[in-house]
Amino acid sequence: MKTLRLILGDQLNINHTWFNKVDDEVCYVLMEVKQEQDYVKHHVQKIIAFFSAMRNFAKELRNKGHKVIYLKIDDEQNKQSFAENLQAILQSNAIEKLEYLLPDEYRLDDELKAFCKGLSIPSRAFDTEHFYTQREFLADFFKGKKTFLMESFYRSLRKKHAILMDGEEPLTGRWNYDAENRKKYDGKVPVPNALTFKSNQEEIFIAIQRMKISFFGRVDAANFDWPCSRTEALQVLDYFVKNLLPYFGTYEDALSTQHINLFHSRLSFVLNLKLLSPQEVVNAVQAEYHSNNAVDIAQAEGFIRQVLGWREYMRGVYWAKMPGYAQLNFLEQNQELPNWFWDGNTQMNCLKQCINNSLDNAYAHHIQRLMVIGNFCLLANIHPNYVDAWYLGVYIDAIEWVQITNTRGMSQYADGGIVGSKPYVSSANYIDKMSDYCSGCIYDKKKRYGENACPINSFYWDFYIRHREKLASNPRIGMMYRLIDKMSADEVKNIQQKASYYKSIIHIV
Ligand code: FAD
Ligand code: SF4
Repeated sequence: MKTLRLILGDQLNINHTWFNKVDDEVCYVLMEVKQEQDYVKHHVQKIIAFFSAMRNFAKELRNKGHKVIYLKIDDEQNKQSFAENLQAILQSNAIEKLEYLLPDEYRLDDELKAFCKGLSIPSRAFDTEHFYTQREFLADFFKGKKTFLMESFYRSLRKKHAILMDGEEPLTGRWNYDAENRKKYDGKVPVPNALTFKSNQEEIFIAIQRMKISFFGRVDAANFDWPCSRTEALQVLDYFVKNLLPYFGTYEDALSTQHINLFHSRLSFVLNLKLLSPQEVVNAVQAEYHSNNAVDIAQAEGFIRQVLGWREYMRGVYWAKMPGYAQLNFLEQNQELPNWFWDGNTQMNCLKQCINNSLDNAYAHHIQRLMVIGNFCLLANIHPNYVDAWYLGVYIDAIEWVQITNTRGMSQYADGGIVGSKPYVSSANYIDKMSDYCSGCIYDKKKRYGENACPINSFYWDFYIRHREKLASNPRIGMMYRLIDKMSADEVKNIQQKASYYKSIIHIV
């Protein structure tokens, strides 16, 4: 063989043109390396799911007749880094050319570029043929602009790809159904169970432990839930479209102790590994809308907005703003995460529910991530580095391009307003409106200070008071400062004292 082609763990796109033709001169390589397990501590389900999906993909390639080198995490010849493994394979097989797919992470993009520079053989990078947009598309689209408005980016893609369109106009005349998609879940519509697979992943779990890879979170490796192959990914898509899409939009923002996933798709993992393409997902939803009266436009548009809009947008922001984005800390937050992020042992019921869901399942839906966990981190003055590391580790779908833009950008406002025009923060009022959490909580959702006051409330008002200088001039926030100005000096003092008390006992709050 003359050409070696590297496939990273999140590049499992079987429809890539690379695989159209079987060529004896070409060999593919996939490797499970410690390097990728050690840059942050991961949830054990995330590690297992990646390895399992990679192994299934290698099998699929071999079945199609392609030559494949696969290094398992505990193989003796595995040198545990991309560079060292590649070097060894190139030498021992007298390879004449190295090819790879463009990584989605800045860190790996840099590393592979540097590695190839040092080679004496030619190398070439190829597009992954996954996204709707190229890396630079968003930066070009917003050239010269300080803020990047997702809505205009999304509308341009709707037009370009003729998705839910009637010529140049949106079908039904409206672009946006957000206003309809904000209902609390009242238990009236039954929620179908998530489609899970119960596969046995003990072999991988044992190898992870034998190799002393550090991890956190909980797992039942003998009954592993997540889809780890293209066949399973297609089943999840089909299941979602038939069973969950009819109420996806309506309850998109809702939170429920009984139904942790509600009508969310759980497709992010298979999408981010490229087992499914965004086009397949968007087309399936669009086809269901056109063929079935049970799915109304608010559901279809609400979902397509997430994949065609937010997902492509976040990737564009990442490539427009990295590497500097990873250092941004506009609000100068500086505290560490409380210990209960690692065991779920907090008395605040909203956080207890969402953190335990994350530790149990390596998953939480968007509003749990944004309006409960992220909300707490922002209000409690946690440094975005700690927030990033936790989010990058805990979620099965966490890959830096989509994690950091959501965490540091959308959730923590650390970019000072590139992704969101104001900080996404809420008091108990919003959490109570959208969930059943507060009724099962020891804290009093109505109180900002005093005995048993809800810590989220104390932190919320303290947040605005602390950040007045940076936030008061934002026209979307002005009203908050008018409310604060109506408070008595005693009230402001009480709030600040309560917030600072809760911060002093943050590990047991
Ligand atoms: P659904 O609610 O069913 O949505 C469908 C799909 O839309 C998702 O699978 C995803 O591909 C896409 N999508 C939805 N919202 C976003 C968004 N804001 N950005 C990009 N894509 C989106 N998503 C990740 O894939 N990886 C992450 O590491 C990640 N970290 C996040 C951190 C924070 C603080 C926040 C607020 C959001 C994060 N998201 C991340 C976005 C979103 O929460 C997840 O994509 C979603 O919860 C995954 O579950 P689902 O597949 O059931 O999504
Ligand atoms: Fe969370 Fe406060 Fe509601 Fe308790 S009362 S669940 S801490 S918002």
